[in-house]
Amino acid sequence: MGSVTRRRVSDPQAPWWSTASWRTKWGARSSGGRLSRLVRRRLPGMLTVAGLFATTGSCVTSVPVPPVGAESGVPPLWTQAERYLHQKRYRLAGDRYRDAARVASLEGNRRTKAESLVAAGESYLTGGERTLSWLAFSDAKQTLSRLTPSDSVRVSGTIRVNSGLGDLDFLAGRLGNAVTHYREALASARGATRDSLHYRLSLVAEKQGDADAMSANRRQILRDDVVAFRRLRQTFLGSTQEAPKATPGWAVPLPGTPLAVRPRSTWAAEASRSNVTPMGRIHRITVHHTGDEFVAVSAADTASTLKRIQKHHIRNNGWADIGYHFLIDPQGRVWEGRSLAHQGAHAGSPDLNRGNVGIALLGNYKARHPGVSQTNALHQLMDALRRRYSMPLSQVFTHREIRPTPTDCPGPIIQGLVNDYRRAPALASR
Ligand SMILES: [Zn+2]
Repeated sequence: MGSVTRRRVSDPQAPWWSTASWRTKWGARSSGGRLSRLVRRRLPGMLTVAGLFATTGSCVTSVPVPPVGAESGVPPLWTQAERYLHQKRYRLAGDRYRDAARVASLEGNRRTKAESLVAAGESYLTGGERTLSWLAFSDAKQTLSRLTPSDSVRVSGTIRVNSGLGDLDFLAGRLGNAVTHYREALASARGATRDSLHYRLSLVAEKQGDADAMSANRRQILRDDVVAFRRLRQTFLGSTQEAPKATPGWAVPLPGTPLAVRPRSTWAAEASRSNVTPMGRIHRITVHHTGDEFVAVSAADTASTLKRIQKHHIRNNGWADIGYHFLIDPQGRVWEGRSLAHQGAHAGSPDLNRGNVGIALLGNYKARHPGVSQTNALHQLMDALRRRYSMPLSQVFTHREIRPTPTDCPGPIIQGLVNDYRRAPALASR
């Protein structure tokens, strides 16, 4: 161990969230010299989410492409994987690490298997292959758990797996799960890795609108890595700027809620037609699903779908605007539809629409459950609206309750969720 000097890698894309100790130990235990350098260089290139910004400017190409070939102690497949990392072909790199794990498994080498699986998970994550990444991390977790608890590979591998799983959760909007994984990683993380985990937790808190948790985590950061943190912020919050204190549009954030509503401008809504009716006093909520299968993932997908729905409602139905006031996509993003200043077109008659906030879950949930993100967003939105307009729980309805429809909107599953919410709103959200 003593023969290996720890050297910070100067690649700006790199080291603060990788586990330097892991690399160094591994290199030291193997053949030293050139190998240590190789191993030290390996991780910077595959720094998990960093690669998601491959197009945003900073790059890893300043790192020389390592020599290819079988070097004693380095699984040859790792060398291939590393070459792919340097070419930013992350999926192929992940596949090679996967192959390396298979070989190590056949050889009965659990440590190398675990290391390879962790590296595969990170490579896939960097390449945006979230499912493959999740599978590799899950396998890594299982393999790591079979090493002795004090094994350095187990300790550092567990940190990286939890950090990676947390990133996957964060990207998918499962904020609670992300926090759990980051905290698990924090339990044994040190130094720059620890800082990066606290920064991630502060971003989760920022997204949730939890100012206390945000500053508590910020205070834990010992060394402010401006470049790396900015990149993380871009990945997870989609902006390098600190969150503005107020969101534009409607979206004056509802007091005391973590809810950020994407204003109409974010989906380039057409202006409403002149046949709008004023909303009147807001006193009830009606929940719908749109009824069309909707599996889009990106915000851009949702935005174009909202435009299509609006066009349909205006052109085909002759309405003044999109019918609903809010639409929630499967990732839990809440979108402003029709302005709350205007009466909606969703409940079935002008009488029923008066003062009635229409919320639609994008998708068809007659036969399947909406995801946790979408459900939580629905609960938060209803909480926020009820607080803002002093509405009792008895004023929350589903479409079929307020007016039976041939389509039975929103179906029995969402009906059940709304029933639960009315029984115990605080418990309904997770
Ligand atoms: Zn409906």
